[in-house]
Amino acid sequence: MLEKNKVYELEIVDLGHSGEGIGKVEGFTVFVEGGLPGDFLKVRTTTVKKNYAIGKLLEILTPSSTRSNPPCPVAHQCGGCQIMHMDYQAQLDIKRSRVEENLRRIGKVEAKVLPTLGMDNPYEYRNKAQFPVGMMKGRAIMGFYEKGSHNIVDTPYCHIQHPINEKIVKLIKEYIEQYQVSVYDEETKKGLIRHVVTKVGYQTGEIMVVLVTNGKKLLHQEELINLLKENIAGLKSVVQNINDKNTNVIFGRDTITLYGEDHIVDYIGDLKFNISARSFFQVNPMQTKVLYETALEYAGLKGDETVFDIYCGIGTISLFLAQKAKKVYGVEIVEAAIEDAKVNAEINNMTNTEFYVGEAEKIVPEIYKKGIKADVVMVDPPRKGCEEAVLETIVNMAPERVVYVSCNPATLARDLAYLQEKGYFAEVVQPVDMFPHTAHVETVCLLTKK
Ligand code: SAH
Repeated sequence: MLEKNKVYELEIVDLGHSGEGIGKVEGFTVFVEGGLPGDFLKVRTTTVKKNYAIGKLLEILTPSSTRSNPPCPVAHQCGGCQIMHMDYQAQLDIKRSRVEENLRRIGKVEAKVLPTLGMDNPYEYRNKAQFPVGMMKGRAIMGFYEKGSHNIVDTPYCHIQHPINEKIVKLIKEYIEQYQVSVYDEETKKGLIRHVVTKVGYQTGEIMVVLVTNGKKLLHQEELINLLKENIAGLKSVVQNINDKNTNVIFGRDTITLYGEDHIVDYIGDLKFNISARSFFQVNPMQTKVLYETALEYAGLKGDETVFDIYCGIGTISLFLAQKAKKVYGVEIVEAAIEDAKVNAEINNMTNTEFYVGEAEKIVPEIYKKGIKADVVMVDPPRKGCEEAVLETIVNMAPERVVYVSCNPATLARDLAYLQEKGYFAEVVQPVDMFPHTAHVETVCLLTKK
């Protein structure tokens, strides 16, 4: 048993699912934020529990060969990136091993896991930024929350965001300071500006700026819009969202367009998407294309198939599939997302899609009961994976192929084990790096009927 508040030396041997280093002292597991596999560290224990301890990194005795200097000065404070201090190739390697390890340990699935598909330039990839706004010593600050808290780390430039954000952040700060516009204080619940959200169309160059305010009246609105219009080429939309609730949720109910359109447009491949302030859209459009193309390839469509896209969100994958299939049924629990999916189908002139709103575990069996059977099933569930009722119905429908897109290797492993038991074989597993410098890993897996 380790003691609290004592100094220990250890080697980091693994990376946890939040990007924390994992090592052992006398067989006891110690988590160390900022530690990388291969590091020898001196740490002080801050927490000791029955099964594990948490150590604070005091000194790197011998650095891991995968350590690299993060380009971002606040990489260690900011909660946005977890592994920017790791060489990019090493990030890709460790994501691949994590998938393989989860499949083997949790699912007893021995599948070929391909090298992670990464980005040539793993920076400036995010098309959506959400900056909390605060005040420090009379100056406006904007950036990200510190790891595990709501303290704002002022971040004039974020390396994983589209570079235009630097300019937008500067202009908004200027506006706040020049016109003495108040900012929201989480403690007193007073002050106007809460968050600034930006969205960028990578193919179109269109830009949206959203001001989330505590109350409706936006002072010096004209001046703000002019400031943005004059300085941001590509500005298509300025939107105000009102959130006067005491909540951590960023958006409130009402959205008002202050300038231009209520949405921007972007493309993934040949498909066009309308993106509004509230609508969900994949945040890394370059890797989304890679992910969807992989999923489409695995679907192996010839043109006469009926396809189910379960957990379809705004129907992005559905539309990709619909280009090559006879009919695509999309199922999704969020009503607004299904509305977007229908609009997206329409603006792409797709007539072979049908979208259903509701719980997949209820809707999919219902569609099947009507006698509709899938030749190919695509699933892209949230972190908790698929409900058993969904997997059961898939097995009953007996499609030739199941393509599983997963954001959590642990639940992927569990679900693959189920499908494997019922006669599906994991042919190929392809991790795709959707979020460089973070601990997230996305995986596409092709299963075929034995
Ligand atoms: N395939 C989409 C989004 C996948 S994210 C894309 O590529 O953009 C997972 C989706 O599952 C989310 O949109 C979430 O709202 C939805 N979801 C979560 N639980 C669900 C359930 N029980 N039934 C149906 N959809 C669900």
